Amino acid sequence: MTENSSIKSDFAENSLNKAIPDQSYKKYIHDITASHLSIKILLALIILGYFVFCDLFILDHPYSLYTRLLPISIGLILLVYHFRTKENRPAKTKLYNVFLLSGTLMMYAKTLMHIDDPDYAGYVTGLIVVLFLVSLDLRVGLRNALFFYFIPPLVTALLVWTFFDPGLDQATTLANVLPMLLIGFVANRIQHNFRYSIFRSNYLLNREKHRTERLLNQTREKNQQLNQANKELSASETALKKAVEMKDKMFSVIAHDLRSPFNALLGFSSLLDETNPARSPEEKKITSLIQQTSHTLYNLTDNLLNWARSQTNEIYLHPEQIDIKELANETAEVVGMQARAKGITIHQEIESGLMAWVDRETLAVVVRNILSNAVKYSKRGGTVHISAAEESEQVVIKVSDTGTGIAREIQDKLFNLNRNPSHPGTEQETGTGLGLILCRTFVEMNKGTIAVSSEEGKGSTFTVTLPA
Ligand code: ADP
Repeated sequence: MTENSSIKSDFAENSLNKAIPDQSYKKYIHDITASHLSIKILLALIILGYFVFCDLFILDHPYSLYTRLLPISIGLILLVYHFRTKENRPAKTKLYNVFLLSGTLMMYAKTLMHIDDPDYAGYVTGLIVVLFLVSLDLRVGLRNALFFYFIPPLVTALLVWTFFDPGLDQATTLANVLPMLLIGFVANRIQHNFRYSIFRSNYLLNREKHRTERLLNQTREKNQQLNQANKELSASETALKKAVEMKDKMFSVIAHDLRSPFNALLGFSSLLDETNPARSPEEKKITSLIQQTSHTLYNLTDNLLNWARSQTNEIYLHPEQIDIKELANETAEVVGMQARAKGITIHQEIESGLMAWVDRETLAVVVRNILSNAVKYSKRGGTVHISAAEESEQVVIKVSDTGTGIAREIQDKLFNLNRNPSHPGTEQETGTGLGLILCRTFVEMNKGTIAVSSEEGKGSTFTVTLPA
């Protein structure tokens, strides 16, 4: 069961109309019967003992003793049973009710015995008093109450009319019992309902108390779990902040501290080339190797940095009108060193004043990567063409080479991360396979497209389309 549904069902259970188990009420009755039972019975037995004393020694009614025998013996049985069994047996409640009944029977018998006495009315009054007192304590259902209230007087009336011949006075005095019977019966039923209402309220209150305690415990448990989760969350937040700080630090190291020495290395190696034209073939080879390696490393570092930034959404575009010829010239200058080292010529066919609405930084990365690849995969002494023109309100840049070309099955994977293969260049220049993916990301960020057409062994053409 989920947390929510358990709470919902708790609320459903809250309904006060829910039936109260019959067993619970019975147990409650047994409980109250058992409490102070010995004191109550002892007290009743003492009173009965006093009556016996009066019957024998004061009033001189030895026959009355027989009427006392039933309640006294039931009282004694109940007392012994109560002392021997400490549990609240239902039998105790039954026996207690029978004890009360035996008390009223005793009074009925006394009125019959003294029907001819001059103080007969006193015995009837005694019966009425006992009936009323018993009514307040009798714990029976309606059926038993009807039996208790109406059978003994019926039997008494039959006996009176059959065996005694009461005068009008006696009959009238005895008839006084009738209204008292009705009042006792009604009082007993009211008391019964009242007792049930009190029990019901207590029962519901207890049930609510337990449920509230359970909910409180559940809430406490949830709170503890939440606190724990909060602690873990703030710990991982701290770790995350640290990781972000480290990443920023790494980016700045790559961006400034690592790129600048490469620039210097590239500049010095080309200076070495220009200032000493009369070098031995061995020296020329070493110089070209330095240039190529530094260029590859520079490209690699720059691509890695740009890639990482694009993945963490740290590339911010500033689109503006860019002169494509100017941008191509700048890029060709960077790639020029790499091309010169391989004896490759770069041809440009770009209309002057051709403008595109793009971000300068990212477009420079795209053109540099495509141009650098064209040089990388061209054979020594080859030619690379870069052209740009406006077509249907779009600027189309094309970079073609006459190099190794790309196999059909590889062409489809070129712009996909994890699937882009990396092959060494014609002079074993290494790569990462990140360049073209970066190109696609940046071109799309500039609302353009990139495509390739190539034939293995003949060369490739990369086409970039941008908004004019
Ligand atoms: P890298 O060049 O670092 O390996 P790229 O993403 O730039 O990564 O290129 C991926 C692959 O695409 C290269 O390894 C190469 O096989 C192929 N490729 C790209 N440009 C060309 C080209 N002009 N001629 C031939 N193959 C190319």
